[in-house]
Amino acid sequence: MVESITEHITKIRSNLPKSVRLIAVTKQVSVNAIRIAYAAGIRNFGENKVQEAEEKQAQLQDLSDITWHLIGHLQSNKVAKALKHFQWIHSVDSLKLAKRLDRLAGELYCSPNICLQVKILPDPNKYGWSVSELMTDLPKLNQCENLKIQGVMTIPPQGLDHLQTLSVFDQTQDLVQEIRQKNFSNLKIHELSMGMSEDYHLAVTAGSTMVRLGRILFGERYFNEIPRACQDEN
Ligand SMILES: *Cc1c(COP(=O)(O)O)cnc(C)c1O
Repeated sequence: MVESITEHITKIRSNLPKSVRLIAVTKQVSVNAIRIAYAAGIRNFGENKVQEAEEKQAQLQDLSDITWHLIGHLQSNKVAKALKHFQWIHSVDSLKLAKRLDRLAGELYCSPNICLQVKILPDPNKYGWSVSELMTDLPKLNQCENLKIQGVMTIPPQGLDHLQTLSVFDQTQDLVQEIRQKNFSNLKIHELSMGMSEDYHLAVTAGSTMVRLGRILFGERYFNEIPRACQDEN
């Protein structure tokens, strides 16, 4: 198992452009597997639940140079905790959440790195702004001075073919360029968080700067090891 995680990481790394940050998604992955990935050189880890991340981080305090990324929907009552446990929040999906993060970040004297989650295509199963909603909210997001809004995150809907998926990623890249051209002083968007195990190669083609990979690194079998208590959260 050690060999396979290490091999997967080495292989994927060697195929990724240097400019692309590899985030190992460790939801439902054991602390031991996280240590193996760390030993293989991974320093960016993604979790989708605040509580689960908190429990794992308590067991990984000796690995002090990890950057933690929250990639799952954030409930408003967990915002303060999220700010304590993550340097990046990819799943900021509404103006309301952004404002709350901004206010609490001010109180806690921190300035989290933020990606805005957008839905290029309508998708009832996902959180996030539609493109037009996001464009409307940009001036207000620009006023969130405690947030380092650096990127856009997207997850294509299920069931698209390769061409359709690539089109979603290309449109996300176009959206980033469009936002940049507006020259908002506080919206320095230069990160594209897109690409998972099934589609990261397409995302990289479209200019992704952060891929979020779980199963392709850890295999399906790791996704059962976590104690129940962690899965019941949310
Ligand atoms: C689980 C998850 C991933 C990783 O997905 P894999 O298919 O296991 O690579 C990436 N991003 C988000 C938001 C996720 O929830």
